[in-house]
Amino acid sequence: MQFQFLLIAQASVILLGTVARAEIKTVFAHNEDATAAFRFKNVPSPSASDAAAAAVFTIVDGGKDINSGAVDKLHDGKVPTEEDQPSDNFFFNPGSEGGRLLVDLGRAIDIKQVNTYSWHPGARGPQVYQLYASDGGAGDFNAQPKKGTDPEKCGWKRVANVDTRPKQGEGGGQYGISLSDSDGALGRYRYLLFAIARTEDADPFGNTFYSEIDVIDRDAPAVAETPARQTIEKTFAAAGGTYQITIDTSAAPDLTEWAEQMLAPVAREWYPKIVGLLPSGGYEAPGRVTIAFREGMNVPAAASGNRINCNSGWFRRNLKGEARGSVVHEMVHVVQQYGRARRNNPDATRTPGWLVEGIADYIRWFLYEPETKGAEITRKNLSRARYDGNYRITGNFLNWVGGKYDPDIVRKLNAAAREGKYDEGLWKNYTGKTVQELGEEWKKVMEERVAATTAASD
Ligand SMILES: [Zn+2]
Repeated sequence: MQFQFLLIAQASVILLGTVARAEIKTVFAHNEDATAAFRFKNVPSPSASDAAAAAVFTIVDGGKDINSGAVDKLHDGKVPTEEDQPSDNFFFNPGSEGGRLLVDLGRAIDIKQVNTYSWHPGARGPQVYQLYASDGGAGDFNAQPKKGTDPEKCGWKRVANVDTRPKQGEGGGQYGISLSDSDGALGRYRYLLFAIARTEDADPFGNTFYSEIDVIDRDAPAVAETPARQTIEKTFAAAGGTYQITIDTSAAPDLTEWAEQMLAPVAREWYPKIVGLLPSGGYEAPGRVTIAFREGMNVPAAASGNRINCNSGWFRRNLKGEARGSVVHEMVHVVQQYGRARRNNPDATRTPGWLVEGIADYIRWFLYEPETKGAEITRKNLSRARYDGNYRITGNFLNWVGGKYDPDIVRKLNAAAREGKYDEGLWKNYTGKTVQELGEEWKKVMEERVAATTAASD
């Protein structure tokens, strides 16, 4: 379930307008826990067919950050899919005070709304700018007034001051600002000038990540909003309802069918199995697990708490290969929850990473998909065969110790790790040998096996 928190406020927005004129309305919405849908309660979602789509955007003052997308990202109708996606936003140079942007609509139109959108988890979320507008008709009109030149002295009219910074905190999240007029139009203008200021100067990273700027023509047929990304979530019951597994493919709709038909059955069968394989006194594994697909991750998959994030690009390339097994591996992490011990007990020991990953890969490769023989020790990886070789190498070691010395070794090590009581001496308690001795013995057996297969195939 995705929650969207909406805050509608006008208090921190200074409204301009004289008594004689109709009133300019500034509405802003802030989603602290935003989704790629850019949906707001009182502000329209970004549009791909508004009057700004065909406008010319020019940087009048200031410089584009090297990591920012091009200024045309601001009117391409597309918005970022993640909260920190520099190349899908436009923002000014680090450390700079901001800058000025000119929007030339090509001809004067009655502007119904100007809507601006931004998204960042920290101080680069809120928006601070002054909006000026002009029809370009004044004799002294300067279309590109740089910093230091007051636009109101060269043919521009100030339309709004926007400042959505919260009184406290950085105000990270997603912002939609909508400027309109109770008259029905902000005015008849060809040019807009955004004088954009950074949100803070405590560090160089105060320039807002602007995602989209829309200009709505009063006389244009109702504009089509960018098809908001639909939430695609399906929840599956496992172990007769004891566990609920939600699969969220909102960010990768093309994977929905595969996820429901191929991944869900594995998750339903294996999550309860893993819980059964890794019990410990009084422990209850998370009852709800979310598996969500994301763009732009730099690892195939990752678990945090009861959530598994899957790199949709990597999954698309590995649907027939390692995709499902990688989710099994991450489900082991959801069941392990070794971090809890340290939160509750300052004396808890830290379980070495090679063992955490080794247990996950032991379950994956030797119990879930033994037929793939994905964790064999071969001539290729023999030189890396150490008990603490991590991932599938340690998984192989655990499998061997289980077969030779103690079939419950993984269950026992897991219980100790979860209680913050892992220490190397446990190996000797359980098997009569130190982990180093076990490692030596295992390596010798592997060397002999590799030599035998090599000889057999020669
Ligand atoms: Zn892992």
